[in-house]
Amino acid sequence: MPAELIDGVAVARSIRADVARETAILVERGVHPGLAVILVGENPASAVYVRSKRKACDEAGIHSVTVHLPVTTTGAELVGAVAELNADPKVHGILVQMPLPDQIDADAVIRSIDPAKDVDGFHPVNVGKLLIGERDGFVPCTPAGIQEMLQRSGVVTTGRECVIVGRSNIVGKPMAALMIQDTPAGNCTVTVCNSRTRNLGAHTRRADILIVAAGRARLVTGDMIKPGAVVIDVGMNSIPDATASRGVRLVGDVDFDSAREVASLITPVPGGVGPMTIAMLLMNTVRSAARTLSASGASPEALIGA
Ligand code: NAP
Repeated sequence: MPAELIDGVAVARSIRADVARETAILVERGVHPGLAVILVGENPASAVYVRSKRKACDEAGIHSVTVHLPVTTTGAELVGAVAELNADPKVHGILVQMPLPDQIDADAVIRSIDPAKDVDGFHPVNVGKLLIGERDGFVPCTPAGIQEMLQRSGVVTTGRECVIVGRSNIVGKPMAALMIQDTPAGNCTVTVCNSRTRNLGAHTRRADILIVAAGRARLVTGDMIKPGAVVIDVGMNSIPDATASRGVRLVGDVDFDSAREVASLITPVPGGVGPMTIAMLLMNTVRSAARTLSASGASPEALIGA
C-alpha cells in the first residue's frame, strides 16, 4: 500500500491559527509580537521569501518590519542595523535573510543578534542551548517544524533509528540535536550522513525515521528505504521540465514515486516541510514576545511554550 502523505500545508495552517490566537491574547495583555526582517541587496529569491514572511505575519496579526539595505552595505552598517533592532522593544524577533553579499561576514552578523530575539535559532548561544537540552532558547525553524510534524502525525520517536542525510548548520545538525534529546519527541538513536559517507544506502535502510536534507534531487530512492519507514524530504531542487509553464519544477531529495511504495508516511515536495518553516518562525516570534510578558512578572499561562 502506498505511503500516506504528511500534509505540511494543513499542519502549518493549524500552527498559524494557534499563533494568531496567541498573538491576540498577547495584544490584549499589552504586548504586540513583532518580527523584523533585514534584506540586503536585490536577490529575487530572497525578496520572495521576505515578502512571504511579511504576508504570514500580517495574517497572524504579528507586527512586521522590513529593513531593506543596499547591496553595497558593509558588515559594520549591517551590524549597526541589527543593534537598532536589538534595542527596539516593539521587535521580538530579528531575522537576517541569507545569503548576504560577499563583503559581509554572515557569522559576525548572526553573533550580533540578541540571542533573546534570534528567532532563526542560529546564534551560538541558541545552538548551544539546543545541544545541551535547555529549552529556553530558539530552535532553527526547519528542524523544529519537522519535529512538530512528526509529533502531530503521531509518529513515535522513542527508541527509533533516525537517519539524517546532510549535516548543515540550518537543517542536519540541529535536527540531530533535537532527535537525540531526552524528550518525548526525541529519544532516537541518530545517524548523520554527509557527502563523504560510504554506502549511504546501508545507513538509510536502517532508518525508522529518515530525514533527507542534502540538496540533491532524488538522491534517495525507494530501494534505500526500509519498508514502513517515515520519510521526511527537506530538499527543494528546481529541475528542467518542458511540460511545466516556467520550464522547471520543484522536486525533493527523495525520489517520491519509488519511496512512496516502500514508506508508511512521507512528505511531498512541494507541500511538505516547506510550509512548516514560516509557521515555526511565527511561533518563535510569539514565544519571544510571551517571554517579555513573563519577564515583567505577568503570567503567560495560555501561551505556547513560553
Ligand atoms: P547544504 O548546506 O547544501 O547541506 C547539504 C548537506 O548534504 C551537506 O552536509 C552535504 O555534505 C550533504 N550531502 C550532499 N550530498 C550528499 C550525498 N550524496 N550523500 C550524503 N550527504 C550529502 O543544504 P541545506 O541548507 O541543509 O539544505 C538541504 C536541502 O533542503 C536543500 O535542497 C534546501 O533547498 C532544502 N531546504 C529546505 C527548507 C525548507 O523550508 N523546505 C529549508 C532549508 C533547506 P557535506 O557537508 O559533506 O558537503
